[in-house]
Amino acid sequence: MGGGNPVIGLLGGGQLGRMLGEAANPLGIEVAFLDEKHAPAKQAHHSARHVAGSFKDPAKIRELAAQSDYLSVEIEHVDTEVLEDIEKNGVEIVLSDGSTATHSPPIHPSWRTIRLIQDKYLQKEHFRESEKKIPIAEQLAVESGDACLTSLGEVAEQFGFPFMLKARKGSYDGRGNFKIDSADDFEAAISALGKLPLYAEKWAPFVKELSVMVVRTEDDEGNLRSCTAYPTVETVHEDSVCTKVYMPPRGVADDVSEKARALACDVISTLWGRGVFAVELFVLEDDSLVVNEVAPRPHNSGHITIESVPYFSQFKAQLYAILDLPAPEKLTPRVPAAIMLNILGGATPTSHHKLTRLARSVYGDDMDVYLHLYGKESKPGRKIGHITLTGFSTIEELEEKARPFIQLVDEIRQ
Ligand code: ATP
Ligand code: MG
Ligand code: MG
Repeated sequence: MGGGNPVIGLLGGGQLGRMLGEAANPLGIEVAFLDEKHAPAKQAHHSARHVAGSFKDPAKIRELAAQSDYLSVEIEHVDTEVLEDIEKNGVEIVLSDGSTATHSPPIHPSWRTIRLIQDKYLQKEHFRESEKKIPIAEQLAVESGDACLTSLGEVAEQFGFPFMLKARKGSYDGRGNFKIDSADDFEAAISALGKLPLYAEKWAPFVKELSVMVVRTEDDEGNLRSCTAYPTVETVHEDSVCTKVYMPPRGVADDVSEKARALACDVISTLWGRGVFAVELFVLEDDSLVVNEVAPRPHNSGHITIESVPYFSQFKAQLYAILDLPAPEKLTPRVPAAIMLNILGGATPTSHHKLTRLARSVYGDDMDVYLHLYGKESKPGRKIGHITLTGFSTIEELEEKARPFIQLVDEIRQ
């Protein structure tokens, strides 16, 4: 479609799309974005096929599909009904001679996967009930509206305190989660989330959070071919937002990291379609693992692969998976240690400038610094960029060298 180059239509054009475009350009792959006119991905990448509008608008999704060889998503909160319809019935396109034809671009990952993952409760029921018997935190559906209060009381009886009340759909960066410490919190929780479809999770007393990116490939008939995991990383969340990522995880035994990779592959093997996926996990005191949730797309915890697995970053992996190009059998880091620091907007639009100035000025024999800004306006708490630091020593030594960066990242949040 793109003068012989494959065209991937992407629902969404934020920073994930922007970095997907950065991986696609040198490979001669065109990415057309459906998002508002000045979305971060569109600022950085030209295409005559970009569509202006919402990735939730069925008509716009069809318009994008009509000009794409493949469809994919950078966000899971999209209209899966229209994706299902496009897969089953195609979209009408007008050929150069004026006649019409039906066009059905393959959709990866599958709309079935996206639909399942959209509902965090159903997502985890699926994992728990699968043949692989994936460990998840115990969970219970919770009534919304007038019945919510009684329902919360029943959850408390079964789980005890604290427990986590979560919106089933649409949440990100913890904005749909409410930690309930006692019955005194019921009222505030109901006023925050009470109208939404809800569920509750037993509190997971984790000592670490890990994340594993997995590349899933399958043939065009939908038969699973491979699940390949990137190295396990440690994620640090502050105020429910991921702020820092460490590879390898600090203070986690190698066998636990390897167990996490195997478990993540088991999780992703139960889904449908090709692509990269993030599996978020909790490590408990006894080193056992619990799956928190899955993202069906490149993920914040995978940004570190751009520099640490440079021959096959999560974005290149996504392109290769969608197009069904050969993927490596092993994803081995090219540096022994790396740290990713999110740049979150601070109290003023310039709060992060000290940090970006430092990132633009440091060179070292034993630490490399890579700044990524997303072209987004700074707002408090908003992800506007990230910095990856790679090192040739242990993660503990790299953390020491990265201290000035970490301090500035922490200062912005205060
Ligand atoms: P994301 O931005 O990753 O999509 P989200 O809004 O979907 O986030 P979750 O991943 O469900 O939210 O939870 C956010 C964070 O809250 C987790 O990373 C973890 O720190 C904490 N958390 C979530 N569930 C539990 C639980 N059952 N027990 C303890 N802590 C939890
Ligand atoms: Mg989530
Ligand atoms: Mg999460």
